[in-house]
Amino acid sequence: MNSEMIMQANQDPQLASIIQQADLVAADGAGVTLALKLNGIKQQRYAGIDLGAALLKVAGKQGADCPVAFYGGKPAILPKAVNFWQQQFPRLSVVIQHHGYITAAEQEQLLAELQAQQPRIILVALGIPRQEVWISAHRHLCPRSIWLGVGGSFDVWSGTKARAPELIQKLNMEWLFRLAQEPSRWRRILVLPQFVLLAIQEWWQKK
Ligand code: UDP
Repeated sequence: MNSEMIMQANQDPQLASIIQQADLVAADGAGVTLALKLNGIKQQRYAGIDLGAALLKVAGKQGADCPVAFYGGKPAILPKAVNFWQQQFPRLSVVIQHHGYITAAEQEQLLAELQAQQPRIILVALGIPRQEVWISAHRHLCPRSIWLGVGGSFDVWSGTKARAPELIQKLNMEWLFRLAQEPSRWRRILVLPQFVLLAIQEWWQKK
């Protein structure tokens, strides 16, 4: 969950209901932890990319006992992201990998593969809200699996984009780093001040 997603969910009841039905909602963005703080809840940030990495480390040690699926990212990016993990964990069992620009027919094939293989972990990198909608529509196919939306993580793991240095992450400025790296995100960033105002307004009303 990040501020952008909350603002989208405010306008989109389908997305709001998907979030409410999730088994786990992690605080991906600094705005979310700030809004929670204003509501008296101390919550550490846990970015989706870190959660994805933590799961892959476990899967990497368990090998074939914990098969993994990667879905999303550009065609040239996905194999690099998978390779990055396989280099670190040679036992990692990647049973399915599909880039995120497939046709409807290919998607049917992917769904059939997921159902047949039942990967333990399914990482979906289609961006918000596409990945949440997709997971919600298909998670019944592998009810015992962990389905996780990981946004632009494959871009980072492939080495195509850089992750913000730890200090910038700690200063809650990762959004600014991403904007500098990808100026076309500026329109998306515009919701951040709106979100902060909304959080302050809610806090004020509760006082
Ligand atoms: N993407 C995809 N299929 C699409 C649209 C996007 O696989 O139809 C991928 C895109 O290549 C990128 C990721 O989804 O790797 C979205 O990254 P972004 O940084 O925008 O994630 P967000 O900030 O939305 O979590």
